[in-house]
Amino acid sequence: MGRILVLAEHNTGTLDAVTGELLTAAARLGDPAVVLLARPGTGQDLAAQLGPWCLSDVYLAESAHAGTRLTTPAVAALEAAVNLARAAGAEVSGVLIAGTIDGREVAARLCVRLTAGLISDAVDVRLSDDVIVATVPVLGGAYSVEATASGLAVITLRPHSIVPDGPPANGLPGAGAAPVPTRIEIDADLEVGPGRGAEIVAVQPRPATGARPGLTAASVVVSGGRGVGSDEGFGLVGDLADLFGGAVGASRAAVEAGFCEAGLQVGQTGATVTPELYIALGISGAIQHRAGMQGAGTIIAVNKDADAPIFLLADFGVVGDVFTVVPQLIEAVTARRASTGATTQTTTQTSAGTNTRGTNDQE
Ligand SMILES: Cc1cc2nc3c(=O)[nH]c(=O)nc-3n(C[C@H](O)[C@H](O)[C@H](O)COP(=O)(O)OP(=O)(O)OC[C@H]3O[C@@H](n4cnc5c(N)ncnc54)[C@H](O)[C@@H]3O)c2cc1C
Repeated sequence: MGRILVLAEHNTGTLDAVTGELLTAAARLGDPAVVLLARPGTGQDLAAQLGPWCLSDVYLAESAHAGTRLTTPAVAALEAAVNLARAAGAEVSGVLIAGTIDGREVAARLCVRLTAGLISDAVDVRLSDDVIVATVPVLGGAYSVEATASGLAVITLRPHSIVPDGPPANGLPGAGAAPVPTRIEIDADLEVGPGRGAEIVAVQPRPATGARPGLTAASVVVSGGRGVGSDEGFGLVGDLADLFGGAVGASRAAVEAGFCEAGLQVGQTGATVTPELYIALGISGAIQHRAGMQGAGTIIAVNKDADAPIFLLADFGVVGDVFTVVPQLIEAVTARRASTGATTQTTTQTSAGTNTRGTNDQE
C-alpha cells in the first residue's frame, strides 16, 4: 500500500473542512499522511487537531515564509516530505491537494520538481489494481473521464466533491494505533529566494456578507440569473435565501449584468456548491453553470421557458415568472410556518414539495 500525502489546509489556527475531505479520499488510496505548513510556533497545535485521524505520520514544516510567500513554501514542504518518506523506504504513490487557486499552482509546480503526473480538478478517486484512478469532469461538466498517472500522481481535488467520513474510531487503514501522529519535522530548505514565488505584502479580508452562511458551506443555496432582470429583482433571491437560512448564488450572466458581486458566481469559473437544496431562479442552465451546482442534493428551478435546459437537471421545476412564483412561495412558506410552527429546515423541505412540480410534469 503506497503512502498518500495530503497537504493540510488551515485558517486562523483551525484545519479547514477540506482537509477531512482529502484525508477521506487518501484513505481509499493507501496509507495517508499529512504535510502541514505553518508559521513558526503554530504547527504543533494544528498537528494536534489531526490526532483523531490516527495517522501514522505528520510532516510538519514551520517556516517564516508560510503566509508571506505565495505557493512556493507549500511546494518546498511537499517536495521535502516526499523525499523524507522515500528515504524512509516508503513508496509515495499520491499527493492530494485541495483544488483551490493556490492548490492548483502548488500541484503544477510540485509536478515539475518531482517529474510527477498531474491530475487536476478531480471530483473522485479510487484504487484499481494498485493504480490511482481519478474522475475528472470535462467540457464544463458535460462528461466525466477517468485519469491515471504513471508513477507518482499529484491530484487536485475539487472542494466539496467528497463527503468526509470524519476521523475513524479505530484509525485509518494502514495507520498506527497511536492517537497522536508521529511528527516528522521537515528540516528542508524552505528559503525560497526572490523570483521563486510572489511575496504577500498585504491581506485584506473580504467583508462579511451579513448573517448569511458562506456560499460553499450552506446547506441551502438560492441563485439568481439574468431572468431576475435587475439588481432590484435580485433582491427576491436574497429574500428567498433568508427565508430558508441559505446563501445567495448567481449565474455569470447575473454577475456580468451587475445584479450582484462576482464572489456569488456559481459554475465552472465560479464556486462549486453541493448544498442539500439548490434553487435556481431565472437561470437557463448552461453547462458552465451546471458544472458548479449539479452535485446538489435536490434542485428546484423556476423559469418561464419550459424548454430551459435547467429543467433537464432539476428534481422539481416550476414553469413561470419568478416575480409571480417566488412571492407566492414566500407567502406560502411563511403561512405554513405560522400554522405549524415548523422549523426552518422542515418547512424548507415541505414547502418545496407543495409549491413545485416534477420535471416531467411541468405546466
Ligand atoms: C468559459 C466560460 C465559463 C463560464 N463560466 C460560467 C460560470 O461559472 N457560471 C455561470 O453561471 N455561467 C458561466 N458561463 C456563462 C454561461 O455559458 C451562460 O451564459 C450563463 O450561465 C447564463 O446565465 P443565465 O442562465 O442567468 O442567463 P440566460 O442564459 O440569459 O438565461 C436566463 C433565463 O432566465 C429565464 N427568464 C427570463 N425572465 C424570467 C422571468 N421573469 N422569470 C423566470 N425566468 C425568466 C429565461 O427563460 C432564461 O432561461 C461561462 C461561459 C464560458 C464561455
